[in-house]
Amino acid sequence: MLFKVLADVFEKIEATTKRLEMTDYLVELIKATPKESIGKVAYLTTGTLYPPFMGIELGVADKLCQKAISIATGFREEIVEEDYKKSGDLGKTAEDLLAKKAIRTLFHRPLTLDRVYGTLEKISQAYGSGAQEAKISHLAGLLSDADPKEARYIVRMALSKLRLGVADMTFLDALAIAFGGGKEYREAIERAYNLTSDIGYVAETIAKGGIDAIRQVKVTFGRPIKPQLAERLSSLEEILEKLGGKCSAEYKYDGLRIQAHIQGSSVILFSRRQENITSQFPDLVDALQNAIRAKEAIVDGECVPVDPNTGDLLPFQVVSQRRGRKYDIEKMIGEIPVVLFLFDALYVNGEDLTLKPYLERRKALEAILQETECIRIAEKIVSDDSKEIEAFFHKAVQEGTEGLVCKAIGPNSLYEAGKRGWLWIKWKRSYRSEMVDTVDLVAVGAFAGRGRRAGSYGALLMAAYNPKDDVFDTVCKLGSGFTDEDLARLPELFKPFIIDHKPPRVNALIKPDFWLQPVKVLEVIGDEITLSPLHTCGFNAIRQGSGLAIRFPRLVKFREERVPEDATTVEEIVDMYRRQLKRVESET
Ligand code: ATP
Repeated sequence: MLFKVLADVFEKIEATTKRLEMTDYLVELIKATPKESIGKVAYLTTGTLYPPFMGIELGVADKLCQKAISIATGFREEIVEEDYKKSGDLGKTAEDLLAKKAIRTLFHRPLTLDRVYGTLEKISQAYGSGAQEAKISHLAGLLSDADPKEARYIVRMALSKLRLGVADMTFLDALAIAFGGGKEYREAIERAYNLTSDIGYVAETIAKGGIDAIRQVKVTFGRPIKPQLAERLSSLEEILEKLGGKCSAEYKYDGLRIQAHIQGSSVILFSRRQENITSQFPDLVDALQNAIRAKEAIVDGECVPVDPNTGDLLPFQVVSQRRGRKYDIEKMIGEIPVVLFLFDALYVNGEDLTLKPYLERRKALEAILQETECIRIAEKIVSDDSKEIEAFFHKAVQEGTEGLVCKAIGPNSLYEAGKRGWLWIKWKRSYRSEMVDTVDLVAVGAFAGRGRRAGSYGALLMAAYNPKDDVFDTVCKLGSGFTDEDLARLPELFKPFIIDHKPPRVNALIKPDFWLQPVKVLEVIGDEITLSPLHTCGFNAIRQGSGLAIRFPRLVKFREERVPEDATTVEEIVDMYRRQLKRVESET
């Protein structure tokens, strides 16, 4: 397959403002791709080389890339740098300079997808002394044979800045359409993806084995499963009603979600975003080897710091300090030990448990777990008595947790990988008053600042995630809660995501001064949710011609650990609005 096919589609995707058009182009691309190359196309189009859990990044630095462009185009490095200063995009610079190059190489070979992918792989694997030179020469070699448009995308890929706005979910949609269409295909493909977190593997499986092969996809050691998430409700009556009158009520520990894969002496720990975080928790690796009595298992839990002196649970921030630190871990383990509270088993000794009802999975967990000081089981009661659950809730809060997660226990209470559904419902103390709970929103636009904020942004246009259409619907303009430091760094922080037209996955009626690719997630609190004709979140859901807006929104914090699809959903905000109405009605 020629790389040109990919570059042509990338160009069309980059120019479109419509989500459906983007999907059409992807379908076209998938249909034009031979079976054996579809995995590579899936990774490259979504801006990666490998699934995220492999933790391999291309990470070519700007300077290095400039050198490669200089070699391939024959222009001096200073000229490359100058052009880059003007364009702000090394991809564009490579394209422009290559187009200006007087003599094209005599033996110009058209680039194939395999060559581009293979070379990028080599670049990602170059380590140690001589790595820089090797990277430059690999990249320069590719660019020498590239036409200008191809060079634009090769450079952006090498820098890990492709940013076409094609999310994994968008690609899955296109796969479903290309290989059969219909809801049934979409659901099966999404489940396979949620069980493996690997877009390339899923694409290859359907291309080679069709929908039957997709249905056969099972959880496997070493591939993280997307975590099941919880919905929220503010009253226990509603929770019990939703869960059929009886549930398993469990402590909601406030820490870090960890999925542990154990196979003999190998243990891999994955974060909620499927990153491999094993090296940050050597204490848990040792402890899990002792605590899990099975040849192979995948278990799910929450990791919480404890005070070594009192045994009390500590705030989550203490663990987050540990994340990303490569040194001094041993010392920190002593100072802030952690406990992993396990609440689910997804796989034991070759058996995929994700389709089993919850209490069966929990039983399987209890059967293989020998509790230790560091690996414990989550506290729970199974009850249909609201008084008993309420007392348990108070005990949970008293012991330093956030409240409860109430879980369905009926025959359909399977593990819904990657879903925020009604099988798990969280009940936190804070829901008892209006909008004291925060929401996670995605920045999709920015407004230029005036007066004191000149040179920075005055506000950000924020959106909730709409998983049904895989788009982001706007819900407020966020201008408060930023410190002076935040304000100073905003333009720099968002610069890489600015694009000159509305991103296709953004649904907005308001036009900001700058459109932003939906990437950054911010935690926001507001006073209340109101109807608004200006915002697209929940449009027509409550009233014709009106959407919902968050009034007086304020920044709580940046959520670097969240991907945009983790943001609060439109449905949740519609739900929060309805609940707010009910509360107001009952008070008056
Ligand atoms: P929040 O900010 O309210 O924790 P969230 O978006 O991080 O929400 P949710 O899916 O809404 O996550 O809430 C469930 C989360 O609670 C899980 O992802 C997990 O990290 C944590 N948790 C703590 N204890 C439990 C438990 N016993 N069962 C399931 N999840 C638990």
